[in-house]
Amino acid sequence: MSPAAELFTSTFGSGEFAEFSAPGRVNLIGEHTDYNNGLVLPFAIDARTHVAAARNEDGLVRVVSAQRPEEIRTLKVADILPGGEDLGWAGYVFGVYWALVDAGHSLGGIDLAIDSNVPVGAGLSSSAALECAVGLAMSTLYGHDLPLADIARLSQRAENDFVGMPCGLMDQMASATCREGSVLFFDIGHDTTENIPFDPSADGLAILLIDTRAHHALADGEYAARRASCEQAAAQLGLNSLRDIEFDDLDEAMARLDDDVLRRRVRHIVTENRRVENVVAELRGSGASAIGPDMTASHLSLRDDFEVSCLELDVAVEAALAAGALGARMTGGGFGGSVIALVPLDAIETVGRAATDAFQARALTLPVLRTVSPAQGARFD
Ligand code: ADP
Ligand code: MG
Repeated sequence: MSPAAELFTSTFGSGEFAEFSAPGRVNLIGEHTDYNNGLVLPFAIDARTHVAAARNEDGLVRVVSAQRPEEIRTLKVADILPGGEDLGWAGYVFGVYWALVDAGHSLGGIDLAIDSNVPVGAGLSSSAALECAVGLAMSTLYGHDLPLADIARLSQRAENDFVGMPCGLMDQMASATCREGSVLFFDIGHDTTENIPFDPSADGLAILLIDTRAHHALADGEYAARRASCEQAAAQLGLNSLRDIEFDDLDEAMARLDDDVLRRRVRHIVTENRRVENVVAELRGSGASAIGPDMTASHLSLRDDFEVSCLELDVAVEAALAAGALGARMTGGGFGGSVIALVPLDAIETVGRAATDAFQARALTLPVLRTVSPAQGARFD
């Protein structure tokens, strides 16, 4: 029995249940572009949130998580509404329930047991993995055969309007719809997705993930501030979103802004969209070995123009590049979380050790290293 199945049985008894899972994700490139209607290129990773779940006849939603062992959280179906007391982690689960029902997909009582190996707060989107796994479980158990992209949208709605976190749609779309061996080219403004084959190992390469284990408290406030700056710049330029600036028109757009900070925020978004297009073209052409310079350029733009990096992320990127990585960048919102490095297979250990040594030399908490490869999105297991 899987750990989620064991937790289900020990919590809710030995009745029947079904199992579902959804992965965490890494964003290969396209950072902070999602809430600017831009381009992103995430892939699902082989770390997943599993849920064992069954309908109940009691009109209750009951949920337990192996990562929160002390409690079973219970709400009556009719009481699952936004704006109530802070439900903590269970808000992600009840939020998805609410979003499904609010969208017209009727549900009844349900018991859920969760077990995950997606680390929380490492920039790997454990929240989207949780939302998409329970969203697929709830909808499937009540006979709604929803497209995975709909599960993603309802999961985002849950996080925005129930949990109160104004995230974009990238994480949920990646967790729900990514395919093994592919990156998801998601054009948010045009609402199109395409799976692009991505197999670094075929080119003798790997993606090394360096989890800095840093979580700087200013992350949420700075995220909101970046969103506000992007909206302000778009408004000053008379645009719906910064997505509407063509790369070739960047200089002209910057000349029309009077604030240097806004100019740099705009430059990051416009050049980052361009880098996503470059990486897609490179993957379609010569393959993963070509994408390193764009990854590194993305990091420098996030560090210098968008100003969302931090010491730990910069140290990891610099150490990885000095030790032979072909490219490296922070991934996720910034101010902590993880770096990804494109590394020759025979240099994985050298690069990992270089990052660890660099952290040790600065007396930083040592990073956690793992390689990640593109995995399958949400599924019925
Ligand atoms: P991340 O970058 O990992 O998505 P978030 O702050 O967005 O970080 O989401 C993390 C939150 O999601 C946790 O604090 C917790 O509330 C919830 N969560 C994620 N995974 C689990 C889990 N397995 N069990 C319970 N809660 C979880
Ligand atoms: Mg999250």
